[in-house]
Amino acid sequence: MISFAVPVSEKTLIAHIRRMALQPGARGGNRALLTGIGDDCAVVRLRPEQEMLVTTDFSLEGVHFRRRWHPPESVGHRCLARGLSDIAAMGGLPTAVFLSLALPPELPQRWVERFARGLLSLARKYGAPLAGGDTAESPHGILADIVVMGTVPRGKAVRRAGARPGDRIYVSGELGGSAAALARMTGTSKSKLNPRYYPAHFFPQPRIELGRALREKGLVSAMIDISDGLSTDLAHICEESGVGAEVEAEAVPRASVGKAGHQVDLPVALHGGEDYELLFTAPVGRRIPSRISGVPITRIGNVVRRRKILLMSRGGIRCELGPEGWEHFKK
Ligand SMILES: [Mg+2]
Repeated sequence: MISFAVPVSEKTLIAHIRRMALQPGARGGNRALLTGIGDDCAVVRLRPEQEMLVTTDFSLEGVHFRRRWHPPESVGHRCLARGLSDIAAMGGLPTAVFLSLALPPELPQRWVERFARGLLSLARKYGAPLAGGDTAESPHGILADIVVMGTVPRGKAVRRAGARPGDRIYVSGELGGSAAALARMTGTSKSKLNPRYYPAHFFPQPRIELGRALREKGLVSAMIDISDGLSTDLAHICEESGVGAEVEAEAVPRASVGKAGHQVDLPVALHGGEDYELLFTAPVGRRIPSRISGVPITRIGNVVRRRKILLMSRGGIRCELGPEGWEHFKK
């Protein structure tokens, strides 16, 4: 599964990643993985009555990260967070992680070690061992492809398609923190940021525990993770469910960023992506606590029959909320 179609130094590197991946505690109590790196395939044992979840995500240099902006640990962390967040959005638990890397020959080995450290420490936190992957030489830039496998009890995966008119709409955490960091790096100041003041961008936390709690308690009718921005991801739920939505502008929880803790503007919270919070709907009768698994939950609106997404402001002004994902901030 890990092949050696790369220079000798890369062999050392893979051996190193393998050693890092096999350190005590790497499995975090996960017993599903029977055979990982070191054979032709990983062998994963599924318990009866479980279904498998699989998600795959690219992290491309110049598209998802820049070497001069993002410390390698952050690139590794974000690479895996994307996949774990998809598992969280289905109410699942991660089982195993697979990583394919294409690396330019001039890339210092140290970069990859730090990347692996960032990725593996997040993997360990959620008991999702690195179980295999591949490497190759890349002619242009770094490419990392992550596959995360997870499980959910049979028939219990939370889909995007379950929202019904009358349901309430909720989000976890705060929105716009990641996009605000990106805007500062790409903006006129082109400033390099201290990751400590922008954790939502450099080290986002996938909401695995929250997704699981919502699924177990049967609280939700539909769910998605916010990777492309609230407006775009809410549109995905509405499309798949055949419904519309009304969002209260004042209710949208806006992130505070930077050393001074400035609150982001509403458009950044509405359209900024890569926060990896959960967006979900719940039938009216369900009591949703204001905090679940340590994460604040905010009600932001209602599901409606008419298939449009409206933004409601104080004073009753309504306008249509078009999906403008985070691509918007790259221009
Ligand atoms: Mg997703």
